[in-house]
Amino acid sequence: MNKIKFLGTAGARFVVMKQLRASGGMWLTLDDTNVMIDPGPGSLVRCISSKPKLNPMDLDGIILTHRHIDHSNDINIMMEAMTNGGFKKRGAVFAPQDSVERDPVILNYVRNHVERIEIMKEKGNYKLGNISFSTPVKHIHGVETYGLNIKGKNSSISIITDTKYFEGLESYYNGDILIINVVMLEEKPAIDHLSLKDAEKILSINKPKLGILTHFGMNMVKAKPWEIAERLSEKLGTKIIAARDGMEVDID
Ligand SMILES: [Zn+2]
Repeated sequence: MNKIKFLGTAGARFVVMKQLRASGGMWLTLDDTNVMIDPGPGSLVRCISSKPKLNPMDLDGIILTHRHIDHSNDINIMMEAMTNGGFKKRGAVFAPQDSVERDPVILNYVRNHVERIEIMKEKGNYKLGNISFSTPVKHIHGVETYGLNIKGKNSSISIITDTKYFEGLESYYNGDILIINVVMLEEKPAIDHLSLKDAEKILSINKPKLGILTHFGMNMVKAKPWEIAERLSEKLGTKIIAARDGMEVDID
């Protein structure tokens, strides 16, 4: 079965710190390839406590969109878990350059556990098992950050991870399923995140088969994202849902 499982839907520091929403990232299973995207705080715990349990040894790879701690906290333990504690060299890790240099979030000794580490770049194309993905454009987000266009045999999934809105952002992400990190309910120009208004603009232009809102900041959580998604669906005539912790989306 092809699916995306949300091991967390928390965005920004307060929702993560207080664990009002979990922050374990996403587990994608597509064409028999398993990939973990952005293993934030609690990712391993969320895998093990999932029903049915998700076994990190089944992962083919891990993708890190950027080094912020709500996305990267569990990357090292997930790399250990994916490689049976480092005893079985396997799996690939994809991350921007600044995640492995200077003040790296991927520890040096853990790097030896995996089969390969690939550095993601703007306009990069990558292969993992039976799927491929690209990182079409560098985001505006303080640290080096890339969204993803993931392609399987019959499906395409775009993930617009953290970024400030910029002109034409939506044109880079044309997946049938479009996942958007919507941290802010109201626009705050000083903050490098998307607001609900930005998400609405993106969805109204792209009209994906399914839009999924996730990575919520405090005010988004308080505003009941499921109600927001329902109103947006009606307004735009596009199916839009809000992710919940533990939610599984059937890609087929
Ligand atoms: Zn971030």
